[in-house]
Amino acid sequence: MPSNPVPWPNSAKCAAAITFDTDADSILHLQYPDDAVRRVATQSFLRFGPKVGIPRILETYRKFGIKQTFCVPGWCAERYSETVEAIVADGHEVAHHGYLHESPNKRSRDEEHEWLVRGIEAIEKVTGRRPRGWRAPLYDFSEHSLDLLLQEGFEYDSSLMGDELPYVIRSKQGGEVIELPTEWAMDDAVQYLFSLDLGLTMTIQPPARAIEVFVSELEAACAQGGLWVTVWHPFITGRRARWHQVELLIESMLERGDIWFAPMEEIAAHVRKCIDDGSYTPRVEELPTYEGRIPELPTDAVGEGI
Ligand code: ZN
Repeated sequence: MPSNPVPWPNSAKCAAAITFDTDADSILHLQYPDDAVRRVATQSFLRFGPKVGIPRILETYRKFGIKQTFCVPGWCAERYSETVEAIVADGHEVAHHGYLHESPNKRSRDEEHEWLVRGIEAIEKVTGRRPRGWRAPLYDFSEHSLDLLLQEGFEYDSSLMGDELPYVIRSKQGGEVIELPTEWAMDDAVQYLFSLDLGLTMTIQPPARAIEVFVSELEAACAQGGLWVTVWHPFITGRRARWHQVELLIESMLERGDIWFAPMEEIAAHVRKCIDDGSYTPRVEELPTYEGRIPELPTDAVGEGI
């Protein structure tokens, strides 16, 4: 065990969150504002998430008696309000995931703030609760995101990849939120996402093999007294063969009896409590790391790629 494990409830070895980024077809409309209407097969590919994937996922969660987090763009909450109401009715958390899945770091601070507020209002209207957590669409957290999250009263973020344990991101302007980090290996899109319209053509992995990546991360997290925040999409892993593998994994995790399944808001609240009572000392990272272009670069440098 590391010198600084998190004291999880009931001496659990690991806190686990299966988080579903419920993008639906927001990403198609954002990418093709004028002709998304014509891309009917891709619409159906993405709408599978709220229409078929989420009901299947909710049924599994009911069977196992676990509560989890769904990160939902505000537009999806409005468009698929019945699905989001079903998520809430089963006691799961709805976190903020943009309004139309727009990238925060491709917008000005004011524009980012406008979309953030619009997403909050949409989620609050459908769920009756203001979201407490945020995951930036495409992990596109900007240099302004933390200050905007603080301004809007968010308690945690789950967009960054700077640690394997919960840590604190602190603004240079003052204020901090809990970071529940993840990373690309914990994201199902890397294993399965193939869509010509979306321009993402991963080599589709067999589900029994893809799940091994998540299992390896889980075993390492349990050995560390750590955190396992995985990122899934209902239109990808809500499909039967893939979801079957996740069901088997949840079953085996519950059989172990030493893993704490919880929505991210509960994990973040627990981490906050442990920080406040001195039982956990997180790493603190001050943001933004850079104020602009680093001075060591030649003045005529242009991007070269890697
Ligand atoms: Zn997303």
